[in-house]
Amino acid sequence: MTKIPYKIYLTEEEMPKSWYNLRADMKNKPAPLLNPGTLQPVTEADLAPVFCEELIKQELDDRTAYVKIPDEIYNFYKMFRPSPLVRAYCLEKTLDTPAEIYYKFEGNNTSGSHKLNSAIAQAYYAKKQGLKGVTTETGAGQWGTALSMACAYFGLDCKVFMVKVSYEQKPFRREVMRTYGADVTPSPSMETQIGQKILAEFPGTTGSLGCAISEAVEKAVTSQGYRYVLGSVLNQVLLHQSVIGLETEAALKKYGIEPDMIIGCAGGGSNLGGLIAPFMRDKIQGKKDLRIIAVEPASCPSFTRGKFAYDFADTGKVCPLAKMYTLGSGFIPAPNHAGGLRYHGMSTVLSQLYHDGLMEAVSVPQREVFDAATKFARTEGILPAPESAHAIKVAMDEAIKCRETGEKKVIVFGLTGTGYFDLVAYKKFNDGELDDYIPTDEDLAKGFAGLPKLDL
Ligand SMILES: *Cc1c(COP(=O)(O)O)cnc(C)c1O
Repeated sequence: MTKIPYKIYLTEEEMPKSWYNLRADMKNKPAPLLNPGTLQPVTEADLAPVFCEELIKQELDDRTAYVKIPDEIYNFYKMFRPSPLVRAYCLEKTLDTPAEIYYKFEGNNTSGSHKLNSAIAQAYYAKKQGLKGVTTETGAGQWGTALSMACAYFGLDCKVFMVKVSYEQKPFRREVMRTYGADVTPSPSMETQIGQKILAEFPGTTGSLGCAISEAVEKAVTSQGYRYVLGSVLNQVLLHQSVIGLETEAALKKYGIEPDMIIGCAGGGSNLGGLIAPFMRDKIQGKKDLRIIAVEPASCPSFTRGKFAYDFADTGKVCPLAKMYTLGSGFIPAPNHAGGLRYHGMSTVLSQLYHDGLMEAVSVPQREVFDAATKFARTEGILPAPESAHAIKVAMDEAIKCRETGEKKVIVFGLTGTGYFDLVAYKKFNDGELDDYIPTDEDLAKGFAGLPKLDL
């Protein structure tokens, strides 16, 4: 048997030519998005003032399995893809495990994460539609950075509402975006009506993703030639991110490797949805039985403690309603939460798969996450994004179980990005200032109380 190299690369020719839309093969399709006014499934016309035309088509299409990647996007992909699938030989050795561990590394581009895979696609369709620019929100800053890069490439304006706490904690992230030409505003801001309202109600708030989304949407619909784009949660984003899973599948096939489990972190679900897409297809079609595990922070446990219900996607309640695992659109993780993945809801695709028992979910406390991140950095060399470290933590746990049982499982996880801009969080960890505050049932009840009461 050929020895498996540290890094399995695909050639340019072996890169996927199409994205894969997992919805096409799901027996139970995700529930439709609802228009918040009429409570009817959203139509293309409902979404047209907010989103780009082609992206709306992708959002609503749960029939077409393969969508050709346009040449312009493919050419951009070639600048940073294929991304390597790395055999974590050093980590295996440190853990003294018989398991084989692989990770798909998406941090090899300036934005430092997988988000560029969808940013470039969304910018392309906006440009093709003849738009002037796009608006968006960013939390930790990876999405805003990726979108700034994509907009610079296609010559589009990029207006980013950045959650205030990140804006203040991550000045360097902000400068990367500005360097690529984006206009960055801390959210909540006085630039929008919803921002003014939130500031009046909660003066001194450090903001939230849900609130920044509301501001970005408002800005898009009130500015001529602009549309809103979103870096996670949406079906279209999972579609673009399927490039991660397709490459992983091809790389594993190249060496005849059969995975036993695929592990990924879940914020809004885009990297995980993309990574698992072809493997979940095989699982649904009964061709392969493997475990698929979503990992989320214990301080924002949408899957493990959330409710499967229609909810607002944003605090301002202007976006369509989505049926998903949610903590309520008013939920904001404790201020000391440092590991990202702080969105209250979850992709409708992943929510349905989880609900149907096709996927598992675990939540992990943040100190264990940073501990795993540190071990990983010291053995594999890469300083991981805290988000990615959630997947590392559970991959390591599974490898340790193998050490105990002697099983030689093949573990694949998504290493979504690097942590160079997360050093405030690492500092807190290194200084012993992180705690593991986990919301109580009472804390969560407050979020659930805000779920829309629908009579469907
Ligand atoms: C945004 C982000 C995530 C979480 O988002 P998903 O949509 O759940 O993938 C994970 N890791 C990194 C590095 C990110 O930037």
